[in-house]
Amino acid sequence: MVADRLEDTKGCYDVVVIGSGLAGMTAANYLAKCGRSVLLAEQHHNLGGLATWFTRKGGHIFDVSLHGFPVGMIKSCRKYWTREIADSIVQLKGIRFDNPQFQLETTFDRTDFTRILIERFGIEPDVVERFFDTARSMDFYDDKAMTTRELFERFFPGRSDVVRFLMEPIAYANGSTLDEPAITYGIVFSNFMSKGVYIFRGGTDKLVGLMKAELRANGVDVRLRAPVKCVVVESGRVQGVVVGGKRIAARSVLSNANLKTTIKDFVGYEHFDGDFVDKTKAVRLNNSSCQVYMGLRKGETIPYIGDLLFTSVNERFDSKALCAKDITSRTFSMYYPDIRPGLGRYAIVSSTNANYEDWANLSDEQYRADKKHLVETTLDALEKYLPDIRSKIDHVEASTPKTFERYTRQISGATFGTKFEGLEVSMDLSKQLPGLFHAGSVGIIMSGWLGAINYGVIVANELDSYLLTTAGREVVT
Ligand SMILES: Cc1cc2nc3c(=O)[nH]c(=O)nc-3n(C[C@H](O)[C@H](O)[C@H](O)COP(=O)(O)OP(=O)(O)OC[C@H]3O[C@@H](n4cnc5c(N)ncnc54)[C@H](O)[C@@H]3O)c2cc1C
Repeated sequence: MVADRLEDTKGCYDVVVIGSGLAGMTAANYLAKCGRSVLLAEQHHNLGGLATWFTRKGGHIFDVSLHGFPVGMIKSCRKYWTREIADSIVQLKGIRFDNPQFQLETTFDRTDFTRILIERFGIEPDVVERFFDTARSMDFYDDKAMTTRELFERFFPGRSDVVRFLMEPIAYANGSTLDEPAITYGIVFSNFMSKGVYIFRGGTDKLVGLMKAELRANGVDVRLRAPVKCVVVESGRVQGVVVGGKRIAARSVLSNANLKTTIKDFVGYEHFDGDFVDKTKAVRLNNSSCQVYMGLRKGETIPYIGDLLFTSVNERFDSKALCAKDITSRTFSMYYPDIRPGLGRYAIVSSTNANYEDWANLSDEQYRADKKHLVETTLDALEKYLPDIRSKIDHVEASTPKTFERYTRQISGATFGTKFEGLEVSMDLSKQLPGLFHAGSVGIIMSGWLGAINYGVIVANELDSYLLTTAGREVVT
């Protein structure tokens, strides 16, 4: 079946992109606009990777990872995609926190956070300003020894309430913990603080539909249900891929699949230096997620209670508790009718960080029971904000780390790819094996919608330069 679909591929491509996550699609689009011939091979029947959606009977549409991203998406989408995509990005104004330490609402930008830190938490204005400036000035090449915990201790010693206010949303936004390098916090936090939290009006289905049209218009050869089995390596360089049982020649390959899968399974450790393999093996995966999708019956309404609700019943911010199966913290994303104008529908998605191991090895019966428990406890938690919600919902279902793994092949369903150390390995790939590149969620910074898109462009640029070198121009068959 798959081989039939690939019958009419070209003899050789400048680049094969493996995977159509936001990084893969953006890289493919960028390279096609540079005049390169590009094959985009996606194993799933939809484009988007984790940036995806699904529909259910009763007119329900659920977005999986459209909860919020920084304002930088507008510029990136305008530059690397289209004006129409950029113009559909709108701000979320009501971000709520509700936990044992504080309840408040914010627009989630520097001005409002400054006000809250001074008025609500009693922090001196100059301390707040110095904290923001320090976070803003961090970059990848900074000193990586200081942890986020140390950063907070330096500015807000003994203030677990302030730490929670500053950290909890970022732990959801990139899976980082207090014990990781402070730049994993500083860069992402500052991106959000610049102007708040944004979302794509029209939903992920509209966004990915527009991206697909643009890819095709720019000449990208898009193939769905096309699982790449391996990268062909001959004479010490990349020569193509095997996809759906067919060998397809290419001067270069850009993998958007999980970094560790790319190195170990697509290529094989034998093609890399021992030190590099050791470094790869040491790369940790990021945590995964659980979600509960709740659709309101047609005609039902709910009042506005905020756009994003960071809720917790845990006494303090605690990275371990945030991922624990016994859930104490949930983020509710509220989808009011203006997210998909014209449909008049409401949906709510609850997200929590999760550990793959807690879900991976259960019997079918236990897995089903645990998912049911997840749904029920989530509805209980939501009743605090919407007491009659159960009577208004006519569809509810849950996803677990296994679900994310199944649909995107991210190892262990990792929400943001790898931890910080993955970035260096990803960036060094082409130095190890000419013609092989990787772009996708790595290193906490290059993750999320904005990070994935921007990293896709950075790597596409490098790949384009490689194609200009003697090795990159060599004919492959
Ligand atoms: C529950 C959840 C909520 C999130 N919420 C947000 C949010 O609110 N804001 C935000 O910015 N980010 C969010 N994220 C993170 C964000 O979605 C991801 O960081 C980003 O979409 C990842 O893009 P990517 O390009 O790295 O690749 P992925 O989306 O992981 O895509 C990789 C692609 O490669 C394909 N693939 C893998 N193996 C093969 C193969 N052998 N052959 C062909 N194709 C293959 C997969 O099918 C997939 O399409 C969330 C993620 C999750 C799971």
